[in-house]
Amino acid sequence: MSRSFDVVVVGAGPAGYVAAIRAAQHGKTVACIDEWRNKDGKNAFGGTCLNAGCIPSKALLESSELFHRAQHEFKKHGIKTGDLELDLATMQKRRASIVRQLTGGIAGLFKANKIEGLVGHGKLLAGKQVEFTAVDGAVEVIEASNVILASGSSPIEIGIAPFDDAKIVDSWGALEFDGVPKRLGVVGAGVIGLELGSVWSRLGAKVTILEAMEDFLFMADRDVAKVAAKEFKLQGIDIKLGAKVSGAKAGKTGVAVSYDDKDGAQSIEVDKLVVAVGRKPHTDNLFSEDAGIQLDERGFIVVDDECRTRVKGVYAVGDCVRGPMLAHKGSEEGVMAADIIAGEIAEVNYNVIPSVIYTAPEIAWVGKTEAEVKNSGRAYKTGSFPFAASGRAKAMEQTSGMAKIISSQDDDEILGVHIVGPMAGELIAEAVLALEFSASTEDIQRTIHAHPSLAEALHEASLAVDNKALNFPNKR
Ligand code: FAD
Ligand code: AMP
Repeated sequence: MSRSFDVVVVGAGPAGYVAAIRAAQHGKTVACIDEWRNKDGKNAFGGTCLNAGCIPSKALLESSELFHRAQHEFKKHGIKTGDLELDLATMQKRRASIVRQLTGGIAGLFKANKIEGLVGHGKLLAGKQVEFTAVDGAVEVIEASNVILASGSSPIEIGIAPFDDAKIVDSWGALEFDGVPKRLGVVGAGVIGLELGSVWSRLGAKVTILEAMEDFLFMADRDVAKVAAKEFKLQGIDIKLGAKVSGAKAGKTGVAVSYDDKDGAQSIEVDKLVVAVGRKPHTDNLFSEDAGIQLDERGFIVVDDECRTRVKGVYAVGDCVRGPMLAHKGSEEGVMAADIIAGEIAEVNYNVIPSVIYTAPEIAWVGKTEAEVKNSGRAYKTGSFPFAASGRAKAMEQTSGMAKIISSQDDDEILGVHIVGPMAGELIAEAVLALEFSASTEDIQRTIHAHPSLAEALHEASLAVDNKALNFPNKR
């Protein structure tokens, strides 16, 4: 007799494993299938985020940032270090250990929540049956009352620069280098390209980022993008805009990369090339033709606002469906799907999803950019406050950047918050809450912020919206 579950989740990344836990919290019987295999050959739950994305990148960003600050900043604090030496093997061991602890933690959470964690491939068949192929090849068909597809995404490979897992690599490969490349090329100045470029630049690589678009960080507010571009330049990261890569060839001495810019055909040679031109939904062998699942023209599983597919009782969440490819977006969708399965009313507020780039300075935003508000035709006001005027930022020796708030002219509602500066990724949480509660600028103005704290920058920016900033001259 085949096994049956109330909910079968395919994929144990941040969308899938969170969905499984929430479904179990509702008292459902749950199985979660995942086939992820790490480069050491071991399977692990956690998907891209824990194994090859958010977590390992942040581990290396932290280590490399400390190395960089010890080299360039400690002197100012009056700390003498002597010659600093990089021990990359230990740095990489630490990264791998953090990943192991967290992925092992998911296995523990599955156990605690009585979720059946199944290692292998899952495929949706017609009639909400799921074919599970274990790593030893054994095939079992599982019956499910509900199915949540959370199969994630994979790096886009471009034919002109195919991955060779040695010199031309994807973002995962770039997290696991065992030596610092002298010259590192990165194709794509998106979030992943900038974070990986920052890591290796701080560890000593000469980094060149080639970006096809003319606008730097086109999705960010222009004021923020301007500050960020200046800071990356100061750090020695060479970002070439309007540079469309046309080919890459690995040879004995390195990788010859050709690109076209406004002056015509150009080329550079690098030791390693990271191709970070985006990610695509991963739906290989995920469902049979008669399962009833539909893909859109870009390969995403078609879902409605509540993540329902066209098949009753089958949901899809995370990177494999429309919307930003972010772990927290996927997790919230997983929670929503599990809540709906349990008969609750649930929704994801897609207008209030924070974006964070963990470079130095960090970049974070929520809501609309000034250009988007302008284009919407709504009358608005803005206020900003530079970290150079923040006591805490000065004490931290991290004064680059600013916080900016955009509010509507008529009812003072906060429409967008944009931060570039120290701990922007943490500071944005206050703004996310404000937008979730449809707060006005005045709400933040009247909220007491601890002194001295970085959060005061947001407070001062809210005051600046009405020309009431206290620690910085207001615009007249
Ligand atoms: P995934 O994490 O991709 O998980 C999907 C899982 O499903 C995988 O384990 C896969 O093996 C498994 N699977 C797929 N198909 C099947 C099948 N048929 N059977 C069994 N198993 C299957 N996002 C952030 O929010 N913050 C960050 O700081 C951040 N940094 C990133 C850094 C890098 C370098 C990268 C590459 C990504 C980063 N992201 C970040 C994006 C984030 O990793 C993804 O948005 C997130 O992992 C998506 O979650 P998911 O659960 O939808 O998919
Ligand atoms: P993201 O989608 O945020 O990961 O960013 C990927 C970036 O890669 C985008 O900004 C693209 O413009 C850029 N990109 C894509 N193809 C190329 C190419 N051939 N050369 C240079 N940049 C590219």
